Amino acid sequence: MNYYSLNHNSPKTNFKNAVISGIAPDRGLYFPEKISPISTDFFENIEKYSHHEIAFEVIKQFVGDEIPEEKLKDIISETIFFDFPLVKIDENCASLELFHGPTMAFKDVGAKFMAKCLEYFNENNNEEVTVLVATSGDTGGAVANGFLGTKGVNVVILYPSGKVSDIQEKQLTTLGQNITALEVNGVFDDCQEMVKTAFLDAEIARKLTSANSINVARWLPQMFYYFYAFKTLKSLNKELVFSVPSGNFGNICAGIMAQKLGLPIKHFVAATNINDTVPNYLIDGKYAPKPSKPTISNAMDVGNPSNFIRIQELFENNFADLKTAFSSFSFTDDETREAMKKIYTNSNYITDPHGAVGYLGLQKYGLKTTEFGVFLETAHPVKFLEVVENTLSIKVTIPEQIQKIMNKEKVAKKISSYQELKEYLTS
Ligand SMILES: *Cc1c(COP(=O)(O)O)cnc(C)c1O
Repeated sequence: MNYYSLNHNSPKTNFKNAVISGIAPDRGLYFPEKISPISTDFFENIEKYSHHEIAFEVIKQFVGDEIPEEKLKDIISETIFFDFPLVKIDENCASLELFHGPTMAFKDVGAKFMAKCLEYFNENNNEEVTVLVATSGDTGGAVANGFLGTKGVNVVILYPSGKVSDIQEKQLTTLGQNITALEVNGVFDDCQEMVKTAFLDAEIARKLTSANSINVARWLPQMFYYFYAFKTLKSLNKELVFSVPSGNFGNICAGIMAQKLGLPIKHFVAATNINDTVPNYLIDGKYAPKPSKPTISNAMDVGNPSNFIRIQELFENNFADLKTAFSSFSFTDDETREAMKKIYTNSNYITDPHGAVGYLGLQKYGLKTTEFGVFLETAHPVKFLEVVENTLSIKVTIPEQIQKIMNKEKVAKKISSYQELKEYLTS
């Protein structure tokens, strides 16, 4: 399968090179040249397919013949080894829990799939690759876990000192092996700036790759969630509306891609916190990115969502079509806390702040009686322990997999400048 750059100033490339380089030479995001709908027979019989079989049907055209079928099936089994349950919240809506993976964040799926693809492509390469990633919290843990023990790949994660939760820090700093955590004296923007500088530094860029959602191997497997939800909800015979808590808009963009493959989804809601670049765009058609503001749903504190350009491409840059199939609403932290309380009181269900923003998206959209709403619960409430416990006045039980790492010793190297990062990468 070939991919082109959305900046239209680089040659086309195949899946392998798109995965290895992450971004096109002209700094554009890669986009598949062709999207072919899956047969209607597949959708009619989807309940007969296992989660692994569904994933294979969904992803195979985007990989093409660059990974042998059997190998691709192995990669899928190594990626999808936990469940994606739907929990009913009320008569017309449910929470799609995406947090049952190893780091309890939905990013586990994309991170593991990408790691396994990169490992395969790197099999006969003697030179090691370094995956360099900046994190404000959840990405780092998922990438660290996904790439742990991957042959030929070193992972270097930059995180802002004192700005990630205890659990998130432990997830980054206790794994060892091929994972190194660099604790940056600064904020997330400083980490991201250092990573960007490294990618533009001709002396080291050649050996680096990125593992954020601009990488096609992290972005595309997120389509699976929507197919799994459809499989479960098909018998309701209702029109499905998905509300996706959105930051970089990779997850929701994968949902729209799933719809392109023929998945019957009526409408998408991109729910954001006060970082409202996309909701504003839908009002007046002017895309005006701005610096991000901190919120309690901090994995969505993004002022210039990198994947939004892919969504525009999926709608062939037709603003009217986009507005028909897609809404976007923004919510304050107070509204988010109120929603968490309401869901807990009415349905005895604990949401994390991101899931609560997704729930609010469905409320604002206003479901009709012919529709059923699904909001994506993108992280386990324990990942945002303080906010959840303080808002709901409860104690959250810490799951075993998290408990285990809390007792491990943190290992991180402190850095304060790009020069120190470069020295580390070249040493
Ligand atoms: C990354 C993340 C998001 C945002 O996902 P995007 O694909 O960047 O829109 C939402 N919730 C949680 C918990 C996350 O970690």
